[in-house]
Amino acid sequence: MTTTIIGFPRIGEQRELKYTTEKYFRHEISAKELEAFAKDLRQKHWQLVKEQGIDEIPSNDFSFYDTTLDTSFLLNIVPAELTTIDLSTLDKYFALARGYQGEKGDIKARPMKKWFNTNYHYIVPKIETTTQIKVNGTKIFDEYAEAKALGIETRPVILGPFTLLQISEFSEGVNREQVIQDLIAAYKEIATRLFELGAKDLQIDEPGLVKDLTAKEVAEFQAIYETLLENQSLPVLLQTYFGDVRDAYDTLVALPFEAIGLDFVEGIKNKELVKNNFPADKILYAGVVNGKNIWRNDYAQTLAFIKELAVEQIVLTTSCSLLHVPFTTENESFPAEIKEHFAFAKEKLTELLELNAILNEQGQTYLEANQALFTKERFAKNQALHDRVAQLTEADFTRTPAFEEREISQKAHFNFPVLPTTTIGSFPQTKEVKQTRAKFNRQEITQAEYDQYIADQINDWLTWQKEVGLDVLVHGEFERNDMVEYFGQNLEGYLFSQNGWVQSYGTRGVKPPIIWGDVTRKQAITVKWSSYAQSQTDQFVKGMLTGPVTILNWSFPREDISIKDSTLQIALAIQEEVLDLEKNGIQIIQIDEAALREKLPLRKSDWYSEYLDWAIPAFRLVHSKVQEKTQIHTHMCYSEFTDIIRAIDQMDADVISFEASRSNLAILDELQRQNFKTQVGPGVYDIHSPRVPSVEEITETIQTILTKVPLPKVWVNPDCGLKTRGISETRASLENMTKAVKQIRKEL
Ligand code: GLN
Ligand code: ZN
Repeated sequence: MTTTIIGFPRIGEQRELKYTTEKYFRHEISAKELEAFAKDLRQKHWQLVKEQGIDEIPSNDFSFYDTTLDTSFLLNIVPAELTTIDLSTLDKYFALARGYQGEKGDIKARPMKKWFNTNYHYIVPKIETTTQIKVNGTKIFDEYAEAKALGIETRPVILGPFTLLQISEFSEGVNREQVIQDLIAAYKEIATRLFELGAKDLQIDEPGLVKDLTAKEVAEFQAIYETLLENQSLPVLLQTYFGDVRDAYDTLVALPFEAIGLDFVEGIKNKELVKNNFPADKILYAGVVNGKNIWRNDYAQTLAFIKELAVEQIVLTTSCSLLHVPFTTENESFPAEIKEHFAFAKEKLTELLELNAILNEQGQTYLEANQALFTKERFAKNQALHDRVAQLTEADFTRTPAFEEREISQKAHFNFPVLPTTTIGSFPQTKEVKQTRAKFNRQEITQAEYDQYIADQINDWLTWQKEVGLDVLVHGEFERNDMVEYFGQNLEGYLFSQNGWVQSYGTRGVKPPIIWGDVTRKQAITVKWSSYAQSQTDQFVKGMLTGPVTILNWSFPREDISIKDSTLQIALAIQEEVLDLEKNGIQIIQIDEAALREKLPLRKSDWYSEYLDWAIPAFRLVHSKVQEKTQIHTHMCYSEFTDIIRAIDQMDADVISFEASRSNLAILDELQRQNFKTQVGPGVYDIHSPRVPSVEEITETIQTILTKVPLPKVWVNPDCGLKTRGISETRASLENMTKAVKQIRKEL
C-alpha cells in the first residue's frame, strides 16, 4: 500500500502567504517578489510532504487566493471587461477576487460562496454568453514543471468540469450544451499537455458528486467523462470528498478512471457501496484520515475498516484536502498530554505513514502507541452532565406559553411604538478598543482601569442611542474579542490554539477553538456588562449571547461524542447564562445564531433528519425556561433561509433579525407565503460597506418590507453587528434609520 494526500494547506506554517500577499496588496513588494516568495513556499511544502515519506504528492493545490478562481482563469472563464483592462495577469486575478478601482478601470469582485460544508469560500465562476472556454493559463503546467525541476514528481490537481458547472452562475441565454463541449475539449487538452510534460496521472476533484443527484445529472456526469476519457493517455484519479457518492457510484466505477477517491470519514455510506463491489482493475484512494478535524486517528478502528472494505488496490489518503486544518501542532504550547491527541496537517502525514506501515506489517509499535493514546482518559467525564443530556424531554425544548400568547402579553408589557428600532449588538471596535484590550491582556493596565474604560464606552454609546431615539438599546460588546472565543473562554471544556489558523477566504483565516471535553459554564459570561448597562438607563437594554449551534459550528468538535450531544451541552451552559441575565433584570435577550446554516448537510434529503431535527431544538433548549414576558431575539447574518423557513420559525424566538438589504428582500415573499409567525427585523441597510444610506433609501426599504410583512410584526435594524464599522458612518447611518422610522410612524 502507498500514501497520498488530496491537498496541503498553502497559507504556510506562520501564515506567510497571507502576510506576503497583503504586502503586495499594499504595494510594499513587487509582483516579482511575490511570485518568488510563492515559489519558495511551494517548494518548502512539496519537500515537507516528500520528506515525511508520502508517496504521491499533489501539485496545483497552491493558490494565491482560491483554487476555483485558478480554474476559472485557466479555462478563460472571466468577464469580458477583464480581458480589456490594462493589468497584469496576476492583477487581473486579484481584481476578480477583491475588486479593482483605479485609473485603469473598475472591476467588481466576483461573489464568494461557502465551499460545500466547510468554512472555506470560493469565488463563484460566472459563465456568460460571451465566455469562450479554452485553455488560457499555465499555472497547472508551470507548477508541475516547477516541482519536476526540483526532482519532485507530483500529481497535478484540478477542479472537475461537473462540479464547476454545478457551482457556476450562468447568464441568461448561455448554451449549456456548448459550454459542456468546450469544457471537455479544454480538459482533454490539459490532460494531453500534462502527459507530454511527463505527468503520470491527474487528479480531478468532483466533490459535486456527493450531493443529491437526479438521474439526469448523473447522466450528464457520465456523458462528460465518457468523452473526456476517450483516447486519454494520462490516467485519471477521480477524487470526491465531503460525503458519499450513493447516486453516482455505479456510473463512477463503470467509467475508465484509473482510480477513484472516496471520503470514508464524512461519507460513511461509501463503505456499503464499496464493500464487495469495487472493480479489481481500479485503485481505491481511501480517505480515512480526517482532513477537517484536528484529532488523532484511531488506528485500530481505521485498520479494521480498511480490511472490511476488501479492496485489492488501495492508496491511503485524507478524507479531503488538508487545507481545512491548521498547519502543525509543533508551534502550540499545549502540555504534552494534551498535544498528543491532536494532528494538524503535518501530523496527519505521519499518521498516513504509520497506518501504511502497520498495514505492511512493519508498524506494530505505532499501533500500540496509538491504542494506548485512545485508552487514556483525556479528562474526567462529567457523568452528571451526560445524564442530564440523556434525560432531556420534550418539555425541556418547549417554551410556554405558546408564541401567540406571549406576543400579546409582551406587546402590553414593553409597549414599544410601531416599528421598534434596535441594533444587532456590537458598536465599532475601534483601534482604541482593541489596543486597550491588548494592554489589559499584557497586564499593562489593571482590571479596574480596563473595566472603567469599558464602562465609559458603554455609557457614551447608551447616551448616544437614547439621543438618536433607538427603542431597544445594546451595551455594544466592547469587552468581546470574538463572538465564539469570548464564550469559549468562559466555558469549561474549551481549548485555544495559538497558531491553529485555517484559510477562510483569500488571505483571511479563522482560528477555531477546540472542544476538548464536556462543556459547562465556568462563570457568568455577559451578566456583568449587560446588567451594568441596564442599571444606567430606564430604557430596555438587550442582553447579547452567542447561540449553541454557532458556538459548535465555529469550533473543532469532539469525535468521541456526537456533535448533537456536544451542542446540547453547550445549550445547557448558555441556558444558565440566559436565566442569569433574566434574574439580573435583563428582559430582552438576543441569542445569535450566525452560523446556524453552516453544518446543514449537503444533501437536502438529510437536512432535517441529520441536522435541523436536533439543531433547532438545541436553540429552543437555551430559552425554553424563561418567563413569558422575557423577549427572546435571535440574529442570522444572511437571509438564505427561504428553504428552511419552517425550521427558523420553530426556533420559537420572539423576534429575529437578519440580513436582507443585499438580497433584494426576496425572502419577504417567502415569509408572507409561509405566514411566518416570529416578528422580523430584516436589515434595512448593509453594514458591510462604509456607505451611509440616506433617509429616503431606508424609508423605501421599510415601505417595501411593509408591503409583505404585517406592521405589528416588523422591527427596524441594520443587517448585522457594527463592530467592523467606523464611528462616524455608524452614527450617521443609524441617525438616518431612526429619522426614516419617525417619518413613517407619523404617516401611519
Ligand atoms: N451580536 C453580534 C454583533 O453584533 C452578532 C455578530 C454576527 O452576527 N456575526 O456583533
Ligand atoms: Zn450578523
